Amino acid sequence: MSETNYYTTLPGEGLEQRLDPKLLALAGAYPEPTLLLDRSGIVLGGNAAAEAMLGRMRVGTPISLTLRAPEVVEAVREAGIFGAAGRVGFNLRVPVERSYEAHILPIRFDPAVAAGAPDLVMLVFRDLTQAMRVDQMRADFVANASHELRTPLASVTGFIDTLRGPARDDPAMREKFLGIMSEQARRMSRLIDDLLSLSRIEMNVHRMPETPVDLVQLAAHVRDSLSPLAHERGVEIVLQTPAAPVVVRGERDDLIRLIENLVENGLKYGANGKRVEISLRLEGQEAVLTIRDFGPGIAPEHLPRLTERFYRVDAAHSREQGGTGLGLAIVKHIAARHRARLGVESEVGKGAAFSVRFPLSTA
Ligand code: ADP
Repeated sequence: MSETNYYTTLPGEGLEQRLDPKLLALAGAYPEPTLLLDRSGIVLGGNAAAEAMLGRMRVGTPISLTLRAPEVVEAVREAGIFGAAGRVGFNLRVPVERSYEAHILPIRFDPAVAAGAPDLVMLVFRDLTQAMRVDQMRADFVANASHELRTPLASVTGFIDTLRGPARDDPAMREKFLGIMSEQARRMSRLIDDLLSLSRIEMNVHRMPETPVDLVQLAAHVRDSLSPLAHERGVEIVLQTPAAPVVVRGERDDLIRLIENLVENGLKYGANGKRVEISLRLEGQEAVLTIRDFGPGIAPEHLPRLTERFYRVDAAHSREQGGTGLGLAIVKHIAARHRARLGVESEVGKGAAFSVRFPLSTA
């Protein structure tokens, strides 16, 4: 058996010269980072994706000099001797920590030979960083949601015990505790409503709504529906909209929810500014909806994280105000579904302005 029919052994030359160009072309066409090694683990070459992942590839040297992952190097060594395929997870720490999976694939050129040392070993890498991050986020989300429900539930259970025991014959205590229990039950149902909305909106995020809706009318609707709450908080809602309709393609209920969540936040967190403005203006091919309050504002370090689920600047204050920590996550998803962009500007002490830029309906 000739060993030199798939690459020519010209010492000191790069892989491209040593390896059969057809094999290299095959690896090059592969979208995942791919390396070709001889059976002793010497790097013969690889594709551009591998070069991007590993930096400079050291062709003609052992894999251990190109890839700092002893578990993969060991699996390659075994594949080179025994010819068994393998799959190994590993992390690269430079330049930033990333998680990968390496598929170690022994290649034999003679289809009649099924076992023993292979002619080549192919290494294919899959970047699992993003998938693992998503898994982590999902786990965090479930943990957060359960925690948010467990707290009011524990409080309700505690008061039930108290009402059955020490407070059984005390009408004043009973009234007080029933009031708290009712508030806690409302908090749980708000949370469940928000969780369900979020999952429904997420499920539909790729289906762009078709119906023409007038944002001017929706803004006025929200101003009216929240005026009792505004009154309670001593805040005036000021509406500044064009006289003519501003039409976008949208889902009416979702858009009302989006505006409501932003205005409610203005009422909850910015009440001391005494005024919340809902303004709508046209800018080129966009309709820009801005909800501005004149309250304490938000420090810059929090701004990038505001739309994360359960992220709150001050958790106790949010709960006191009936917040679930999901309002802005819902806003972000509704905006995404409408191909709109959400932005926030805030100066501490002067208030916050949340803007949503909608593409105008052209039809
Ligand atoms: P919550 O249910 O807690 O209000 P959101 O997702 O609506 O959840 O908001 C997340 C956090 O962002 C709030 O807890 C609050 O700390 C902050 N925030 C939102 N809107 C404002 C605002 N207008 N002014 C100051 N802080 C705000």
